[in-house]
Amino acid sequence: MSAIEITSPSGKTLKVPTGIFIENEFHKAAEGGPRLSTLNPATGKVLCEVECGTSADIDRAVAAGRRAFQTRWGRKSTPTQRNACLLKLADLIEAHADELGELESLDNGKPRWVATTMDVVDTAGCFRYYAGLADKIEGKTMELDEGTKMAFTRLEPIGVCAAIIPWNYPLMMLGWKLAPALAAGNCVVLKPAEQTPLTALLIAQLSVEAGFPPGVLSVVNGYGATVGAAMASHMDIDKVAFTGSTLTGRKIMEAASKSNLKKITLELGGKSPVLVFDDVDIEKAIPWVVIAILFNQGQDCTAGSRLFIQSGIYDKFVARLVAAMKEHGIGDPFDDANFQGPQITRAQQERILGFIESGKQEGAKLELGGGAWQGAKGTPFEGGFWVEPTVFSGCKRGMKIVDEEIFGPVLAVAKFDTEDEAVALGNDTKYGLGAGVFSQGAARCMRVAGAIQAGTVWVNNYALLSNAVPFGGAKQSGIGRELGVDAIKEYVQVKSVHWNYGEDLEWPLRG
Ligand code: NAD
Repeated sequence: MSAIEITSPSGKTLKVPTGIFIENEFHKAAEGGPRLSTLNPATGKVLCEVECGTSADIDRAVAAGRRAFQTRWGRKSTPTQRNACLLKLADLIEAHADELGELESLDNGKPRWVATTMDVVDTAGCFRYYAGLADKIEGKTMELDEGTKMAFTRLEPIGVCAAIIPWNYPLMMLGWKLAPALAAGNCVVLKPAEQTPLTALLIAQLSVEAGFPPGVLSVVNGYGATVGAAMASHMDIDKVAFTGSTLTGRKIMEAASKSNLKKITLELGGKSPVLVFDDVDIEKAIPWVVIAILFNQGQDCTAGSRLFIQSGIYDKFVARLVAAMKEHGIGDPFDDANFQGPQITRAQQERILGFIESGKQEGAKLELGGGAWQGAKGTPFEGGFWVEPTVFSGCKRGMKIVDEEIFGPVLAVAKFDTEDEAVALGNDTKYGLGAGVFSQGAARCMRVAGAIQAGTVWVNNYALLSNAVPFGGAKQSGIGRELGVDAIKEYVQVKSVHWNYGEDLEWPLRG
């Protein structure tokens, strides 16, 4: 099956397979049909085309996964074997870091230096972390009646799992799902987002060299409404792990419940609050507050998109924040001076610009930005999907920019007086993914971290994650946890074995 060569702006030739990956080979889509175009968001031009699957490809991939699970993986593999494959894949990801980083940047729009030094490094680290856990998945033993009975638990792989991932962190979301699932002995059918299939295809190719047996991993490119929906409702998929919008998460949960009650983990949207108290060191807090909203072009489920500042420092903090945001580099993703690239698609850009217009109409005060980035005009990036960093102050509940997830570089700022008010404002959302607290008071930080309803709270920092620390949502931001040891629990089922080694049952039973 053919691969395509993309010449990157750095002059490298990037060779990417374009097929549907099943049984360790790339295939044409089972039903033929039009291929899927993936664009470079920085220019708006087509980067390449890949095969576009349908439910028929999912059926093939699931059958391959089931065969592999019963004959070569699952209980037919050893933890040592799984550890070796995962470690080798981590090594291969590192050996191909430049290539993967450039592809991720071209397909997604994020700066190449961010993709290479963060996304690729974290993904390799994720495979390495779960390689280390592969032989530490342990049950418990329980003594029941001394000398006669005991029980023990086995943590067994679930079976064939589906992974449906979004476009904002294509490599990292792949790692967060594949690594724990494979470490625990499951087979996985992965669907990358239709906007960003390329790095997943390269990883599929590397997985063969890493030694994963055929059928253990499949990658089926395609659209959510067809391929994704077929996965969520498939009768022979045992679990689906999803990251993306809350709307799609609901559909997946519904399809799972209407089909075979497959297990689900959902990582969904957010509208995360950042609370800045008067006693903060302003200069130290500003860079964190900036990356909270601008990292990954604001396309982050934990984006700190609602900023609440205590009244004593409000004016000064807003002025410093706007000044800091003006310094930040936006433009060519292959220029390492830039921190911000384009949004993923024209539709996302227009959606974000729509939110910005609503902020202006609904009475928020525009402090910075407020439109498409004009710096691209007259450059090769004119056709790209750019949005200026935008800050609104005087924001209130009821404004769309405060209530809804924008998924772009748009910050809504408001003032508070007391700690209780800050917590109430922060919690006034249906979401509960992340939150930030900035204060020099340890007791206050501890109180607020406890009172905020969120899966992750950052104290005097923001957006930092670790493969060892669980991540997931409270409220409508999701179900289940990824990363850390907790993620393994989402990919095993507990079997309890009751063992009688001493009691004879006399028959018939009498009271
Ligand atoms: P989405 O949730 O529709 O897409 C995410 C993944 O789900 C993709 O792989 C997509 O193909 C798949 N999908 C879509 N419909 C499906 C269905 N019915 N069944 C199964 N899978 C399906 O997100 P989007 O449309 O690309 O973006 C829309 C909004 O979602 C964004 O503006 C943002 O607010 C949010 N979003 C959140 C995250 C996150 O990390 N939480 C990531 C991407 C998008």
